[in-house]
Amino acid sequence: MSTQTVVDMESVEHFRTRARDWIRDNLGPTDPKANIGVMRAEGPDEDELAYVAEQRALQRRLFDAGLAGICFPREYGGQGLTRAHQRALNEELAGYAYAERLQSPTFVPCAAVLLEFGTEEQKQRHIPAILKGEEIWMQMLSEPSGGSDVAGAVTSAVRDGDDWVLNGSKIWTTGAWWSDWALCLARTNWDVPKHRGLTVFMVPLDCVGMEVNRIELLSGSREFCQEFMTDVRVPDSDRIGEINDGWTVGTRWMFHERMLSNSPYATMAAGSTQRGTKMPELLAVARDAGRLNDPVSRDLIGEARMLELANNALQHRVVQGITTGVMSDQAASIARLMAGLMSTRLVTIIYEFTGPAGAAWDDDDGTVGDCATDYLGQQVWCIAGGTTEMARNAISERVLGMPRERTHEQNIAFRDIPKSRSTSGS
Ligand SMILES: Cc1cc2nc3c(=O)[nH]c(=O)nc-3n(C[C@H](O)[C@H](O)[C@H](O)COP(=O)(O)OP(=O)(O)OC[C@H]3O[C@@H](n4cnc5c(N)ncnc54)[C@H](O)[C@@H]3O)c2cc1C
Repeated sequence: MSTQTVVDMESVEHFRTRARDWIRDNLGPTDPKANIGVMRAEGPDEDELAYVAEQRALQRRLFDAGLAGICFPREYGGQGLTRAHQRALNEELAGYAYAERLQSPTFVPCAAVLLEFGTEEQKQRHIPAILKGEEIWMQMLSEPSGGSDVAGAVTSAVRDGDDWVLNGSKIWTTGAWWSDWALCLARTNWDVPKHRGLTVFMVPLDCVGMEVNRIELLSGSREFCQEFMTDVRVPDSDRIGEINDGWTVGTRWMFHERMLSNSPYATMAAGSTQRGTKMPELLAVARDAGRLNDPVSRDLIGEARMLELANNALQHRVVQGITTGVMSDQAASIARLMAGLMSTRLVTIIYEFTGPAGAAWDDDDGTVGDCATDYLGQQVWCIAGGTTEMARNAISERVLGMPRERTHEQNIAFRDIPKSRSTSGS
């Protein structure tokens, strides 16, 4: 960083005051719908689309106020500021409605990947549009034949003149039906070992040959999608990174995804469920279920608080370790594992307060009413962004240096790997 940049940079305290004044004058209280997403059934499609439109408008207002893309470079419409500025904004946003639904995966990991691997033209074209809420991005990684085995992608991309022709299917793409673009991992060479024949592309979700189908979950939510690509044409100028070097992009893509709420590229209000405390909700459910004063509930409340404190300390330590170079990027898997386990346990604790009442409720049951759907989705944060089992693999092999799972796949052409054996994971 040049001396000039340091001298010109707005101080964190000045930035905090500017952000606070603007937020108080312009934003309403936290939107209760902000965290519904895949967790709970949303309303009719028109309401969901209206909500997404509101989120875009909110993002635009943050952009116009100079409060979007805090750590993105100025040449792409960002503020060119530091993690400390982003942290200050996150703290000032606590309790206020902002474009929360757009942060993941649009900003992290998608925009972070564009920033790291995009060409100048790609960055100029997409990053300002993302910061203004004009483009919502999704990630097309998982496939019906193997989600954890990301490197085993069988969606193919074949070169045809200046274009690539994509065929295959991606699944579990959250919110694809209301999104604009996606990063898509595809196989471009079947005659080399599986990690060496992949390439990443930017794909518009409304292009010819792209069919987006919605998946209905037990909770009634229809946010997840499966896409079928039939001869989808993508210009070579929309390729991210080098041909057949998609695993290099993919590895960073998954790193950014694991960093999520710890990433300097995402705005996440302190106190939101991703970053702060679930205690107010937990206490409200215990109170509404009439269990606030019983000793078992008090133990559970203590356990929940202890888990949150341990998680916060661990997340902080891992981020510090990675940003100062004391820990390798692989340590992001430690933070990911802990966040998944904590989140599952907190949902289970909440359900323990309600007992059977959490499974059947009416409108007068207050906070108790949402518990059953949360309980159905209790494993969600142990799966999303790569499972906790895969995080354990990464920690044992790449952080602790334990022996890697034995595989011959590294040396065989992908087309020769028997399907049932392709399980090496991301
Ligand atoms: C809320 C949510 C949002 C999501 N959003 C997206 C999205 O936007 N885009 C996207 O592409 N995907 C998305 N996913 C999909 C997610 O990334 C996959 O579900 C995940 O990678 C696991 O893949 P799978 O479901 O196919 O499970 P599988 O890979 O079939 O795994 C089944 C079980 O086997 C275990 N397992 C598999 N291989 C190994 C191994 N080598 N060692 C040890 N255990 C192993 C797994 O951990 C798991 O417990 C989302 C998932 C959720 C829950």
